[in-house]
Amino acid sequence: MDTRSPAALDVAPLATRGISVRFFGVRGSIPVPGPGTLIYGGNTACVEVRVDGRLFIVDAGSGLASLGNTLIDGPERSFDILLSHLHQDHIVGLPFFAPLYEPDRHIKIYAGNLGGRTPEAALRTMFSPPLFPIELDHKAKHLDFVGFHSGETLRFEDGFSVRTTPLRHPGGATGYRFDAHGHAIAYVSDFEHAGSAPEPEMIDFVRDCDLVIYDTTFTVEDYVACKGWGHSTIEAGLALCAAAGAKRLAAFHHNPDYDDAKLAEIEAKLERASPGSFCAREGQVLQLSKVALSRAGPVT
Ligand SMILES: [Zn+2]
Ligand SMILES: [Zn+2]
Repeated sequence: MDTRSPAALDVAPLATRGISVRFFGVRGSIPVPGPGTLIYGGNTACVEVRVDGRLFIVDAGSGLASLGNTLIDGPERSFDILLSHLHQDHIVGLPFFAPLYEPDRHIKIYAGNLGGRTPEAALRTMFSPPLFPIELDHKAKHLDFVGFHSGETLRFEDGFSVRTTPLRHPGGATGYRFDAHGHAIAYVSDFEHAGSAPEPEMIDFVRDCDLVIYDTTFTVEDYVACKGWGHSTIEAGLALCAAAGAKRLAAFHHNPDYDDAKLAEIEAKLERASPGSFCAREGQVLQLSKVALSRAGPVT
């Protein structure tokens, strides 16, 4: 087993053509650093998605701090942060996103679960004493907030578009789908499946995806006591992928109570059920080429 810290893992060069994914935070609910999470990582949800090299940041959990550090010396000056929703584990990294404090950067923050309102009011509360010492007003000139209705397709000025869908979760959440060159990945967190059969809308959303990053907070056994909390299971994720012809599942939003040993056990079962599927790890990079999905990053 690879015992290096996820933070120390080297990353492969990111593709300038096609879709690439890099996980900076894979955990749900609360960051859980420590000896029990060295393999899969302890930071909360944050994923870098590049489409033909173009950067999208999906969710702003505690993993966003590390992602931001990789961008400080990079060429990019504009960043689109697509939030699934505003629960703490998906925004807690924002105050520590280094580009926020660079005057020559332009950051747009999107949210789709607020009835069309922007996330500005909620984030202003987060960025105000006594919760945080630096107020958002200082940054307002290079910060934009975009509200939309989950289900809309986001169309960006540079011609890129991203599909969205509403997700069943307390207060609502938004799923994102990125398509390029006949390949696609979907980000479906936080989400609770409706029942024993996948819903047609969700099947349509992840149809033929190469990779579905999916909320697998609970094992089937643990789900019984946590039904209605807004999270799902590997089994429901695999059923959705099977119904939609999606190729691989990336188990995501790991339960903070599941340590590396438990996730390795879950991952072994997952790989047996669906070869090529895996439990997402902090520092892991995946690239969708024209031929196939290749896996880079840590191996066991
Ligand atoms: Zn969450
Ligand atoms: Zn949530």
